[in-house]
Amino acid sequence: MNAYLIVILASLLAAWLLGLLSDLLNSRAMRPSIPPEFADVFDPATYARSQEYTRATMRFSGVTETFNTVVVIALILVGGFNWLDLAVRAPGLSPVLTGLLYIGSLGLAGTLLSMPFSAYRTFVLENRFGFNTTTPSTFLLDQLKSVILASVVGGSLVVGVLILFREAGPFAWIWCWGFAVAVSLGLTYVAPTWILPLFNKFTPLEDGELRSAIEAYAEKTGFELSGIFVMDGSRRSTKGNAFFTGLGKRRRIALFDTLIHDMTVEEIVAVLAHEVGHAKLGHIRKRLVTGIARTGLIFWLMSLFLNSRGLFDAFGMEHMSVHAGLIFFFLLYTPISLAMTVLSGLISRRHEFQADAFSARTTGDARSMISALKKLSARNLSNLTPHPLTVWLEYGHPPVLQRVRALKQRVGAA
Ligand SMILES: [Zn+2]
Repeated sequence: MNAYLIVILASLLAAWLLGLLSDLLNSRAMRPSIPPEFADVFDPATYARSQEYTRATMRFSGVTETFNTVVVIALILVGGFNWLDLAVRAPGLSPVLTGLLYIGSLGLAGTLLSMPFSAYRTFVLENRFGFNTTTPSTFLLDQLKSVILASVVGGSLVVGVLILFREAGPFAWIWCWGFAVAVSLGLTYVAPTWILPLFNKFTPLEDGELRSAIEAYAEKTGFELSGIFVMDGSRRSTKGNAFFTGLGKRRRIALFDTLIHDMTVEEIVAVLAHEVGHAKLGHIRKRLVTGIARTGLIFWLMSLFLNSRGLFDAFGMEHMSVHAGLIFFFLLYTPISLAMTVLSGLISRRHEFQADAFSARTTGDARSMISALKKLSARNLSNLTPHPLTVWLEYGHPPVLQRVRALKQRVGAA
């Protein structure tokens, strides 16, 4: 048996089993009693519901992951990748168009297969716990817009990479890297004005107590803003959030309308101060730089494997091509990608603690951050006792109990 095939099948299976193990341990880590820190926001019924929600989401993702793994492995074993390659070659188009057709068909098939799952998640799972506010027409329009957006952006990326790997010689991977970074920076730049408004409505926050409090805080910390907006998050879900979009001076704050509805002015300022912390502490810049480095690593590794006959043999391919090589490389990359996710989760969770501390320090009000976190976790039915393996594999934020405890220590120290 081909060594590449063994590595790919073993890592797909290992990733799937690791997910199942994490779900199992996560279920076992649930405790019947509410952690004392949360006794004021979780009543026993809400606490039981949060555990039920965690279980239901885990079951759902277990089924989804199993389905995806089975489909990919079956496609490999029955020679589906070669079959599709022969089919897209039949019309005799140029190599770049043939490649675009190949990757586009796989992308479209993936989207169509995932659509029932995403509909189930929205209209059955989220609905059962009272989160869903998405109407069927919003859902369908979202899917349509995402497909168009992915075709335009993904399509241009694929065409660029296919041309560069064919024409740019031994250092093609450096050109691809530059090209991909330029596209992604461009997207970040236009996201607040061109892309996000396709999905949500952003209205400037009206004058009043909240706006003055946010402006006073921004002024005090010397944080420049080009706007404070309210986003109609309630169009899709009752869950709340806040985030920044745009780069440098075009930075804007977006507050979910659901967040404004639920929280006091002090709590919203505390949440915002946490986001300001990410910017002021250089987290956003670091994330950008590591993202760029990671893209470079991917293209470099890709260039090493694109011409390897063994990799194509693993998939039973009659012809070698850049387009199929790209897909195979990403399957081969599964274990590295998993390691990268774990590593970036580790860094991201450390950043979250730092941003919480920044919020407490600059607002002088750790209590509002604590109560905001507690309200959010009750509202979103967060799992209060996740297993460390699950945190390690999936969490970009530390478990909320740890965040609250870290903030409480600051209150105690003050
Ligand atoms: Zn954060």
